[in-house]
Amino acid sequence: MGEVEVCVAKWQRSKLMMAASLMLAGMVVSTPASSENKPQDDLLYYTVSPEDTLGAIALRFKVGINDLLGWNKLDSIAIVADTTLIVRSAEVIKPPAPVSKTMAVVHTVRAGDTFEAIAKRHRVSVQQIQQWNRRVNPRRLQIGQQVRLQVPNVTTTDGRSTSWGAANGGRLYNGVALQDSPGLRVRNQARAFGTKRTINLLEGAGADIKARWPDAPDMVVGSLSQQNGGRMRPHKSHQSGRDVDLAFYHRGNIELPDFRNMTPETFDAVKNWHLLKILIDTSEVEYVFIDYRLQKVLHEYGLSIGYSAEELEPLIQYPHGQNASNGLIRHARGHLNHAHIRFRCGPEDSNCR
Ligand SMILES: [Zn+2]
Repeated sequence: MGEVEVCVAKWQRSKLMMAASLMLAGMVVSTPASSENKPQDDLLYYTVSPEDTLGAIALRFKVGINDLLGWNKLDSIAIVADTTLIVRSAEVIKPPAPVSKTMAVVHTVRAGDTFEAIAKRHRVSVQQIQQWNRRVNPRRLQIGQQVRLQVPNVTTTDGRSTSWGAANGGRLYNGVALQDSPGLRVRNQARAFGTKRTINLLEGAGADIKARWPDAPDMVVGSLSQQNGGRMRPHKSHQSGRDVDLAFYHRGNIELPDFRNMTPETFDAVKNWHLLKILIDTSEVEYVFIDYRLQKVLHEYGLSIGYSAEELEPLIQYPHGQNASNGLIRHARGHLNHAHIRFRCGPEDSNCR
């Protein structure tokens, strides 16, 4: 649990999060290895501390809210201190079976084919095709010529959701549908598929905020990926089940029907900071794209709750300019009305980058 404790320790100076520091009081107990009760051996139990939320527990153990509700036969996210919860079951602990990540495919050039067209059809990049076919001149493709490709070996992924390739040139296998859950509302179901990891993280964040601020409106989730990933207009990324667009929380708990441009006055720094911080503290976030003007608000809020400018360096690009390669939260155009979060590749993902 070392990693989790470090994360929690980082929170301690945040006034807002004094509550979360009490998570240290929570006890993690795995069942003693008992020969009488073999199937139970893989379960992990956790004793709820007074300031825990089910969402925070879900994020801590990287499981879904719906998993926790199901394993513990709970019908709401309200939890009671000192009760003991199952936080991991055998099915989650089981290490992924070895997967042969790609398989070789030979594409036979047809009339009109270009590297771009072949790349698009097989969902690989032009650069990759060039790498695999150094002797093939893309400008002199001939009908019948063979082009070698490596495509993901989907037959061996064993039903698990897998992110394949790059966010702007990838796909999603066995995509899991994000559904409305406590504190979380999905805008368009057809565009809300992700890896199980992505879904778990979003469910946990939504439920945590709902439990801490019961009057807050649900977190509005825009695009993730399509069921099988791939290009989803108008986005360039969102192809591999690791990207998600989240509406910002509006100050005063005002519920918005849709994404809406924020100003420093309407942007709810407290909840938006909390949302990003709990996700970032799982170590699963690669980037967050947010308009630079709103980064300034987050930065000021971070300072106001006791973070030093130095501590905010790895988190926020501000104040280094909107083109600077600093921090995990970066500027991108069009991100005045939502945050775009890209989660990292997981161990079960394939050719992920
Ligand atoms: Zn996006």
